[in-house]
Amino acid sequence: MIFIIIICEIHLTENIDVIIIGAGTAGTYLGWILAKNGHSVKIIEKDKRENVGNRLDVIHFESDRVKKAGLPPFDPNKQDCIEIRDTSTVVTPDFETEIKTRVYQTIVRLTPFLNKMYDILESDSVQLEFSTKYENLIFKDSRIIGVKVSNNGEKKEYMANLVVDASGTNAVVRTSLPEDYGVETFTLGPNDVMYVLLQYIKWKNPEIPHPETDTGYNYWLLWFGPSLGENQAILGVGQPGSYENARLAREDFLSEINLPPYEILKEEKGFTPYRRPPYSLVADAFLCIGDAAAITYPFSGHGVTATWMLCKIAAKVISFELKKGGYLTKERLWDINVNYFRDQGAKFAALLTQLSGILNFNKKEWSYFLKSGLIYKTGDDDELPEPNQEFEEDMSIKEMIGFISKIIGGLIKRKLSLTNVKKLLKANSLANDIKNHYERFPMSSDEFQPWVNEAKKLWQKKKTAIKKLNNVEIEYK
Ligand SMILES: Cc1cc2nc3c(=O)[nH]c(=O)nc-3n(C[C@H](O)[C@H](O)[C@H](O)COP(=O)(O)OP(=O)(O)OC[C@H]3O[C@@H](n4cnc5c(N)ncnc54)[C@H](O)[C@@H]3O)c2cc1C
Repeated sequence: MIFIIIICEIHLTENIDVIIIGAGTAGTYLGWILAKNGHSVKIIEKDKRENVGNRLDVIHFESDRVKKAGLPPFDPNKQDCIEIRDTSTVVTPDFETEIKTRVYQTIVRLTPFLNKMYDILESDSVQLEFSTKYENLIFKDSRIIGVKVSNNGEKKEYMANLVVDASGTNAVVRTSLPEDYGVETFTLGPNDVMYVLLQYIKWKNPEIPHPETDTGYNYWLLWFGPSLGENQAILGVGQPGSYENARLAREDFLSEINLPPYEILKEEKGFTPYRRPPYSLVADAFLCIGDAAAITYPFSGHGVTATWMLCKIAAKVISFELKKGGYLTKERLWDINVNYFRDQGAKFAALLTQLSGILNFNKKEWSYFLKSGLIYKTGDDDELPEPNQEFEEDMSIKEMIGFISKIIGGLIKRKLSLTNVKKLLKANSLANDIKNHYERFPMSSDEFQPWVNEAKKLWQKKKTAIKKLNNVEIEYK
């Protein structure tokens, strides 16, 4: 017995530039671009190589971000790519109007994609360790210097200049930091996430008209996405609070629409962060990315390519500092915060706030908003409306006047209620203040606390939106 304990406690120690916990899309991408810059990178993943990511089969990547990330192009003839799309449809909740929109999406199979990436990473000298679990951080003089991991009872210690938490929604490293380490240690509660239910369906009589592939019913936060085969679709729905809320929203939708029969081939569920990220993503020898840092597009809950943009910023700063040598203090990593929060972070913070105005609208109001082009910018002539790719409020004066006159028109025609319009305008104004505040993210960590105090006051002003469906009222905190 004593002998066995001694065997299990044998420690192997190794020094690495960067150790990343989690080989999902976030950790894999950051590890790859750091290794290409010449740094030694080790990624620790608790799952078996062939199983990573299998909680989700089909996943959507924003094609423009894939390109920006510098990923090898996707090929729909390969195992990891189903389709590359450029259009989508949105249907008004009264089912009267279909709006075609321009949306550039690459439809990917997650596990084959990750496995393709692992081969690429290994050819770029990234060390991948599967079936290995993060156990705890190693500190010296109260500062992180490495991690302890375990593989089948064998414990190992890795010393690193930087530890990255890319462990997904559990954020196993961030939540185990000492409270005063400099990054918030919150866990994700029911109101911090969107619970998503996916049903892979097959139309039983495909000749009977049914929603086209990639059709959104965004009043219910529900969509029919592309799936694996002919006459198939993924019926997805996401709501905060509980899986039950998501199920009830789907039930309400199904009671209103007349769908032809379909069979359910398989089901998946999971949750995606729907909250602001920690105020700082970095501390001494620490960075968090991906779901572990709650980085998602507020309007879709998608997280993959949103984090790749953060990873690009992070890799630049980390490489620059690693080349200089020495310990990577919070101050030396601070530019990651500055460059992220002043740009994408500020835009996402504003969008999250705007949602608290939009989500109050009832069915009639939502239909009016969609039909009058208030949500999607209507293109000229036969152009398709495009989503705002850089997520900027880039309305010209003419567009602004058009927007306001449509709102006033909606009020006069009683298509919009004054209460909800007021809530929208308040949320928009707060979104603007929050965006401006994030765009002034402090250049140095010395000015961080006053900035956080002000940010907290702004976030406290964000109101809860309430959607009243026939069978449930859902709160968006
Ligand atoms: C139903 C659903 C549909 C979604 N659809 C989309 C979509 O279409 N497009 C999109 O962009 N996003 C989508 N998302 C969100 C997206 O899945 C996440 O934002 C993204 O996968 C986050 O990547 P990540 O690498 O941060 O985390 P993860 O993919 O969760 O990877 C984290 C990895 O860390 C590992 N890990 C955890 N704990 C430990 C430990 N102790 N030791 C070692 N390893 C550990 C895990 O095994 C995991 O492999 C969806 C989410 C859900 C729930």
